[in-house]
Amino acid sequence: MIREDVRNIAIIAHVDHGKTTLVDELLKQSGVFRANQEVAERVMDSNDIERERGITILSKNTAVFYKDTKINIIDTPGHADFGGEVERVLKMVNGVILVVDAFEGAMPQTKFVLRKALDLDLPVIVCINKIDRPEARPDEVIDEILELFMDLDASDEQLDCPFVYASAKGGYATLSLDDEPKDMVPLFETILNYIPAPQGDETAGTQVLISTIDYNEYVGRIGVGKVDNGTIRVNQDCVLVNHHDPDKQKKVKISKLYEFDGLNKVEVNEATIGSIVAISGIADLHIGDTLCSPDHVEAIPFQKISEPTIAMHFIVNDSPLAGRDGKFITSRHLRDRLFKELNTDVSLRVEETETTESFKVSGRGELHLSVLIENMRREGYEFAVSKAEVLYKTDERGKKLEPMELVYVDVPEEFSGTVIQKLSLRKGELQGMSVASSGYTRLEFCIPSRGLIGYRGEFMTDTKGNGIMNTMFDGYAPYKGDIQYRKQGSLIAFEDGESVTYGLFSAQERGTLFIGPGEKVYSGMVIGQNGKAEDIELNVCKSKHLTNTRASGSDDALKLTPPKILSLEEALDFIDTDELLEVTPNHLRIRKKILD
Ligand code: GDP
Repeated sequence: MIREDVRNIAIIAHVDHGKTTLVDELLKQSGVFRANQEVAERVMDSNDIERERGITILSKNTAVFYKDTKINIIDTPGHADFGGEVERVLKMVNGVILVVDAFEGAMPQTKFVLRKALDLDLPVIVCINKIDRPEARPDEVIDEILELFMDLDASDEQLDCPFVYASAKGGYATLSLDDEPKDMVPLFETILNYIPAPQGDETAGTQVLISTIDYNEYVGRIGVGKVDNGTIRVNQDCVLVNHHDPDKQKKVKISKLYEFDGLNKVEVNEATIGSIVAISGIADLHIGDTLCSPDHVEAIPFQKISEPTIAMHFIVNDSPLAGRDGKFITSRHLRDRLFKELNTDVSLRVEETETTESFKVSGRGELHLSVLIENMRREGYEFAVSKAEVLYKTDERGKKLEPMELVYVDVPEEFSGTVIQKLSLRKGELQGMSVASSGYTRLEFCIPSRGLIGYRGEFMTDTKGNGIMNTMFDGYAPYKGDIQYRKQGSLIAFEDGESVTYGLFSAQERGTLFIGPGEKVYSGMVIGQNGKAEDIELNVCKSKHLTNTRASGSDDALKLTPPKILSLEEALDFIDTDELLEVTPNHLRIRKKILD
């Protein structure tokens, strides 16, 4: 069965590029709002902190109607992935709209979500918004987006995506810059024509994967998901089953079922393939559960929710003045608030400790926990927190494992040297580097989670507030050894046949190093008091990251401007002379064997 009357899409946008305005406008024009009725509340991003930090943590749904079609619009979390949320949201849709400011262009923060959408083979409609801005530069922005798509390994179909020019504020969209601006119809039509209608088997048993959980004081837990197969009805008996724990099944009855209509949930008696539904009245509903008919129990696979990697203790602040409004926060208050958070945040863990005053709260990285801390403080909860600690594991042989993060950094070129140096010190391995036309350098690192603790502040200072840093959990890996801060120089090198050319940089000085597309890049640091060659740690960067980079500077070389290569005399201090192949004023070529 193909639901021609439904389209399910997700919106991906960098903060302030106009997502909210666009959805407001689609709502208005879809007739959900009567002509004389103002849009009272902004549609998405109701959470203050989300706005301030530019991240949307919980996904929200809106449904608009165009002609005979219902378009479900799902907001995507715009930032670091707190436990597979992005994937679960994207699994509900058949396509995405990428909203990009016609002046600012594609911003690195959206790269992560976009990458997931492309990986899931979703078609993308690119909406170049704010076309009314006098400084709009739509053609260049389109080139940048196509370049980004290639960088993210988009398929040929994805590269052939439609571009829509819009002014969400002006209430119009056009398919060409020469078209007369009128209304949002061109965008509605593109959605209908380009995004596939949801499909499923109506004769099969019911299958609804619960993708997000909402919580409401009155009705309790509300599960939101898409009907993949069959039909779901009020009073229907269902079985709850989870892909990652298929033996644990639970019988439930559907008591209340809703679909989205505008900004509201409306009760319905049944829903079928492709419908996004909300279900309340099932206390034990969890993200990742599949609701199935009893005669056809089959869980829908989803990415396992990532485990917490960082823990902090939240401690009752026993000063009687604690709390805003003079509220005194007892351990009971703190406990209730923390456990309430578990209703909607699956990647959070809360444990009681020996003392009633302190709770161990574990989450997906420092940012995840700091968002919670900030939210709670705003609500008036006053409490102390301990330093963040990493959650280690051991493998079958008893070897210590530690969580690793992928770090995506975008900084103005002049700061890249400092960032490379600081993160190398913290055991970060540089895995990719490219220069965007905006003048920003993109750096990708793999680093132990503990190396990032406390780094964010340093990063903001080092980049004078101009840097952007995103992190993503990359699994557990063998312990990387103690982090040594006795560093004597950070190092970048590139390979040329059987030898390696490398330079040592110090943060204070500037210089230029040329690296051609496809060449391997090594990053590392010199450790040990004397910095002998065998003490140089080199990490091989995936050369793939360099093949698509835009050439700038001379020939096809990618121009990087890290801090200056140390003087020859200084550099020679670090190297055994019998390793040297060639010495030039800027480079040392040394035998490859030190890499083995
Ligand atoms: P969001 O953070 O992506 O949801 O962005 P908003 O919808 O809140 O928009 C951010 C700012 O951009 C607001 O001040 C909007 O009024 C403005 N804005 C949104 N769309 C347009 C547009 O098409 N043209 C212009 N000039 N401004 C816009």
